[in-house]
Amino acid sequence: MDTTIKQSLKEIVGAENFTDSLIDLIAYSKDASEHRHRPDAAVWPVNTGQVSAIMKLASREKLPIVPRGAGTSLAGLAVPEQGGIILDLGRMDKIIDINIEDRLAVVQPGVVYADLDRALSPHGFFFPPDPASGSVCTLGGNVATNAGGIKGAKYGTTKDYVLALEVVLPDGRILHTGSKCMKSVSGYDLTRLFVGSEGTLGVVTEITFKINPKPPLVSTSMANFETLEDAGRAVSEIMYSGIIPSALEVIDQQTLIAINQNTDLNLPEVEALLVAETDGYTREETEFQMAKIVSIFKKNNATTTRQADSKEEAEALWTARKSAYGVLARINNNLIVEDLAVPMSKVPDMLRAISELSKKHNLRIPTVGHAGDGNLHPVICFDGTNADEVKRVEEASAELFEKVIELGGTLTGEHGIGLAKVPFMGLEHDEISMDIMRSIKRLFDPNNILNPRKMGLEE
Ligand SMILES: Cc1cc2nc3c(=O)[nH]c(=O)nc-3n(C[C@H](O)[C@H](O)[C@H](O)COP(=O)(O)OP(=O)(O)OC[C@H]3O[C@@H](n4cnc5c(N)ncnc54)[C@H](O)[C@@H]3O)c2cc1C
Repeated sequence: MDTTIKQSLKEIVGAENFTDSLIDLIAYSKDASEHRHRPDAAVWPVNTGQVSAIMKLASREKLPIVPRGAGTSLAGLAVPEQGGIILDLGRMDKIIDINIEDRLAVVQPGVVYADLDRALSPHGFFFPPDPASGSVCTLGGNVATNAGGIKGAKYGTTKDYVLALEVVLPDGRILHTGSKCMKSVSGYDLTRLFVGSEGTLGVVTEITFKINPKPPLVSTSMANFETLEDAGRAVSEIMYSGIIPSALEVIDQQTLIAINQNTDLNLPEVEALLVAETDGYTREETEFQMAKIVSIFKKNNATTTRQADSKEEAEALWTARKSAYGVLARINNNLIVEDLAVPMSKVPDMLRAISELSKKHNLRIPTVGHAGDGNLHPVICFDGTNADEVKRVEEASAELFEKVIELGGTLTGEHGIGLAKVPFMGLEHDEISMDIMRSIKRLFDPNNILNPRKMGLEE
């Protein structure tokens, strides 16, 4: 990158908010995926005016620019595949307003998910998406990926809570979308267009979220299953029983073994463990729902069911579930965390297909997932220095996606396309929808400077 451009960037953000040091650029060359590419410089803007000035400069110079939150993307979304500038929003981290009367929170994009949740808690409110990375990921990143989590089946994902956005467009113009009202059908829904757009259309600089009152009571139970099919059938039956659990997660045997090796939870190493949570305002309400769920567990051959005795035991269980990725990352050289979703009735078929692919390609593919909304995370473990194994990983991934589409599913429930799933976009989207998506990209970003090479948008 030209030194005059670096000088211009320093003038916009101040020298203290600019870096081109090798160590910083190496850190910014990756996210939580296996992809990497080094940027030429990185900046930490502190207000919308600076973001706008940076975008004008990048537009004029036709420089690639990649917005970045905490860099926890699992699909290469935050990797600067064509170099250029990393726009780290981490210093725009203020909670601007919490308005309980209107059920709103207004935040800058760099606020960490858990910090908003902590700020809402004394008011008896919460922001439900609850990604497992919530202690570090940013709300800007959550909007750009439409993040979800363990509460998805009952409470939906980020898109269900974004009411309004301030977005800086690639040419530097500042766009305001949506409103602070709970309802609005005024014009095209530009807000939704940006949610899940992976930083390819604009830089989110302010977000207005709807927030929810938090039910104070929960019940948590787990059930052991000897076969994946039994567990999958139980999930499917629970979801059409009239009860909507606030969480329903599946953990398979390979993951249970890994968790046991790294915690003192001593979980049963059965083929599948289901963990369910119900929430409500009275003990009677949560227990009524849980009793129905437990009866479905038993009907589907659960060998043991167990209700958490205390809040601490329930929390330990959820911490273990959320730590699955960390545990697997510690004990494997390389990981690809897939993120497919299938219609609820197809969960058993998908779980079986994953297990068969694991055997066929001689790969370890532990699987966890938000079973309650059909979103499964097979984690393909491998050694990236073993060429034969890498080839088997590629073959298994391709077959996995073919199976997902055959079952009427989708390539990604919450992590996004990024770089990882570009080759498979054509499996899910026909030429007409790809053409419309590319036209939208060209409309917002005619020079293709914003997070290029992502989502399969290039011809
Ligand atoms: C251990 C672990 C567990 C995870 N669990 C979950 C989970 O349960 N649910 C889930 O949905 N995801 C999960 N993820 C994936 C990841 O945490 C989410 O995708 C998260 O939303 C990314 O936030 P981030 O701040 O790290 O964004 P980054 O990774 O920095 O960026 C992600 C994308 O958002 C864009 N972006 C970031 N900020 C902005 C902005 N202000 N304006 C425009 N674009 C922007 C980037 O360009 C990039 O395309 C997990 C990841 C890890 C490592």
